[in-house]
Amino acid sequence: MARIFGCPCCGPDAAVPPGFVPDHPVARRGVLIAALSGLGASVAAPVVAQGATRSLRVRRQVTGDGFEGVYFRDGRYDRQALRQLDYVFRDLSRAETTPMDPRLFDVLSTVARQMDSDEAYEVISGYRTPETNAQNASRSGRVSQVSLHMSGMAADCRLPDRNSREMARLAANLRLGGVGLYTSSGFVHLDCGPVRRW
Ligand SMILES: [Zn+2]
Repeated sequence: MARIFGCPCCGPDAAVPPGFVPDHPVARRGVLIAALSGLGASVAAPVVAQGATRSLRVRRQVTGDGFEGVYFRDGRYDRQALRQLDYVFRDLSRAETTPMDPRLFDVLSTVARQMDSDEAYEVISGYRTPETNAQNASRSGRVSQVSLHMSGMAADCRLPDRNSREMARLAANLRLGGVGLYTSSGFVHLDCGPVRRW
């Protein structure tokens, strides 16, 4: 099997709709969630229904980096935990980090919990610099120029103790964002953008 450094996403059928603007700042997001949770309102971007404490277990097989613990508590994201997660999800080929969209961690956390997994995610690809994305695009015509990996909103991952096809199906049913199944490579693309599936 060819070594894959990341999905050829977001594919032609998964392009981000025109006009979609990532809602990224952590503080603004936290306020929004807090405000909406009391109103029972909904917004275009997914608001993940979770408890007061949210945790995540992730690791990079290539480097051995990982994070295991709580990243959201008492109604707010833990900035130190987010920084650690940003490092784990960094662009390995460029050694660059970016502030990841914490809603991605909510998606991952929710999917892992729903899958009842006891293991850490293996993160194949997280953030991608424009240079890395362009490099991937030159290898595959399916690579989008507007991949959400470039916005820190996507991850390609797998749960070692769970079937990727089942994980993709469950994630798609949750309708938290984009879900792409890469059967031959055995991983799933998850993002916190618009709800899509491929
Ligand atoms: Zn991806």
